[in-house]
Order: sequence, then structure tokens, then C-alpha cells
Amino acid sequence: MTKKEKTSLPIQRPKGMHDILPQAQPLWDKVRKSAREIAEYYNFVRMETPILEKKELFLETVGEVTDIIEKQMFVVTTKSKEQLVLRPELTASLARAYVENGLQSLGFPFKVWSDGPLFRYERPQAGRYREFHQIDFEIISNEPDPVYDAELILAAVRFLEICKLKNIKIFVNSIGCKNCRPQYRKQLQTYYRSKKSELCPDCLRRLETNPLRLLDCKEEKCISLKARAPIILDYLCKPCKDHFKNVLEYLEELKLPYELDNYLVRGLDYYAKTVFEITVEGGTGAIIGGGRYDYLIELIGGKNLPAVGWAGGMERIIEAMNAQGVQLGNNKKPKIFFIYIGALAKKRSLVIIEDLRKNNIPIIESLGKESLKGQLRTADKLGSPFALIFGQKEAFEESIIVRDLDSGVQETVPLAKLADTLKKKLKNQ
Ligand code: AMP
Repeated sequence: MTKKEKTSLPIQRPKGMHDILPQAQPLWDKVRKSAREIAEYYNFVRMETPILEKKELFLETVGEVTDIIEKQMFVVTTKSKEQLVLRPELTASLARAYVENGLQSLGFPFKVWSDGPLFRYERPQAGRYREFHQIDFEIISNEPDPVYDAELILAAVRFLEICKLKNIKIFVNSIGCKNCRPQYRKQLQTYYRSKKSELCPDCLRRLETNPLRLLDCKEEKCISLKARAPIILDYLCKPCKDHFKNVLEYLEELKLPYELDNYLVRGLDYYAKTVFEITVEGGTGAIIGGGRYDYLIELIGGKNLPAVGWAGGMERIIEAMNAQGVQLGNNKKPKIFFIYIGALAKKRSLVIIEDLRKNNIPIIESLGKESLKGQLRTADKLGSPFALIFGQKEAFEESIIVRDLDSGVQETVPLAKLADTLKKKLKNQ
């Protein structure tokens, strides 16, 4: 090894990206299983889409004057000079797959869920990463029925409850539609133009292109300006007002407490009418965000089909579970520990274990470890009820020792009868 090699750091993961280590897996499993449970109950089908998508998909849907498009896309140029993007969100991909594969033929509503990694070139900070994971639930329908907005909010809350999270808060707003939003936009621009000198540089730019996003700015001085900004509820057209009223009535009927947040907007252009965010105690910001996106399917080249959905950040959900001290409880049954002694026994071990696998008998082994003591210590640590001890003598006699690790009582069993003997013992456990 050269001197340079010795002193240089080992290769590290890219900035803002994380390894999900074995000790974190139970919580990740719990979140995925909870999502699956909710999906099955409310009849959402699963769909998966590629991690890479064409750049145009996001340029034309998410909107060029959003942070995601302006600053955050990971762009890959292929050998044939095509520009692909590591997907920054799932909704546009699911909508593309829906249109491209003609899934309208499956009828309405089309309820779909997905999960997976997403990539945004953000400044890494607590709860904000460059690679993160989302659970996504969407409903595409042939009419913008408010019952779907409510059903999705309900599914989101129940999902978080199954993840054992407490103090769940729902914030809702409506951002109107193509008919009423332009008027509100104008009013916002008028208000903020009179405060130009107090705006952050990003907001100054957004003021002319996407003024609703000024309400979403996290800069202190912009937050304080928001307090006197006009609110959209005063500008909603009748259909948007009725829709919003209906959504709230459903939530009340379900006894889901919500808070109206007059300044809640979503960063993405394709949203219309209902927008919502969900927070929990100990979570960083919103852990779930969603809303109605009535224009997206048509933008992608499909029919004019309204839709509504949400995305939950898995890292943020897991961080909140950790912050709230969620205990999962261990319902895994301990496995029978297989111990070998000597080279001959080692050679036969995998065959014996294979026979037990076919009989559905749960086995754990550490075939790489040579000493009996070491193997017994591991068996003890894992809380195995029985150990199987297979040595030279047993290998010659086609038998094996079955040892009860609680009582220390052991018996020699012919290999041919091993599976049946263990089944009986496990039944009596
Ligand atoms: P969005 O797709 O921006 O509406 O975000 C939906 C949810 O994804 C948020 O509520 C967060 O839980 C999560 N999320 C968004 N961006 C990030 C990020 N950079 N790092 C971690 N989680 C994120």
C-alpha cells in the first residue's frame, strides 16, 4: 500500500444519502407493512415505475418555476445524449405510467399506491435529504368527487396510526382552480409588489412567475409578510367552494380533527382545489403532503381526469417513530440452532438444513464458526429453544443430537426422523 492510500479516508456515501442499516430495518419494515395493510383495506393496487424518467416528464408537469425543477433535479446524460432524471417525485411517474399503459380501461376510480427512492439536489439538513423514500397513495377518477379527498386523508391518518404515531395533525386548504386562482394570484402579486424591498431574492423572482410559492417560503422575513397577505378562500369560485366545504364535512363526519391553514400551498404546479399536510409530534415539518391534481393526467397527454393523492416521507416517519419512542414488540419466533463439530459434519450440514427447510422448520446456523463454544454462545444469545449438534460420530451413525437449551436435556435422533421429532417438539413449545 502506498503512503497516500494509507492516509486517505475510505470511500464514503454521497452527501445527503444514507445507508439503511440492519438495526433500522424493523422500523422500515413496519412502515412498509403498515402502508400495505392500508392499501389492501382501502383497495389500492400497487404499481412500480422506473427510477429514471425522461426529463420532459417533470419539466412539463411539475412546472419549471418550482424548486424541484429549477434547482433540485439529478440529471443523467446517457451515452446517446438523452437526458434522464432520477425521479424527484412519484405522482408524475404514476400518472405517466397510467396514461402510457392505457389503465383507464380498468375503470374508475383507479386507486393506486407505490413506494421507493426519490432524489432531490437539496441542501442536506434535518429531515431533508438528497435521496429519500416516499409512500404514495393516489386516486384517479372520472369526476372530482370530494369523497376521494376525504378517503385519502383518512387513509393517511390511519396509516400513521398503524405506525403507532401519536398527536397527528391535519392541515387543509384549497388553492382553487384554473378559473379562480388567477384572480387570487393577481391579488397576491399586488400585495407582495408593495413589499418588494422586504422579500428574499428567491421570492423576488417567484413573485412574477409563481407568486403562490411566496406563501411557502421558509425565510423569516417572508414568513412575517405572509401574515397580512390575502387569503384564497375569499376568491374561490362556487365549484371550488362547494368542493372544499364537502371535503371538510366528510372530515367532520369521520371525526378527523383538522385545522384550516389559509396559507397552505403546495410547491407543485399541477395541484388544484384541496391541499393538505399532516404533521406528528417529533416529526420534522410535514411528514405527509398531498392534494388534488386535476390537470396532471391531461398535461401528460391523457384524458381530462381529475385525481388526488399524497406522499409520505419514510425517513421523516421513521424519525418521528424514533422521537416518540415507538416500540414494535418482537413477535419473531426464535429459530432452532444448528451446530456442527468437525470437517465431515460441516460437509453434510447444508444437506440436513435443506431437508429441514423443506419441512418448514426454522433453522439458524453459523457454519463459518469452528468452535462448539462459540456456536453455543450464539445460540444462547439468539434465545433458540433447541440446538442440533452434529459431530463426527453422528455423521457416521446418520443421527444428530437434539438438545433442549432450557433444561439441558438432550437425545440422539436418527436423521431420518429429525424433521418429525422437531415438529412435535415445536408443537409442544
Ligand atoms: P413533497 O413530494 O415535496 O410533497 O413531499 C412529501 C413528503 O416527502 C414530505 O412531507 C416529506 O415527508 C417528504 N420529503 C420531501 N422532500 C424530502 C427530502 N428532501 N428529504 C426527506 N423527506 C422529504
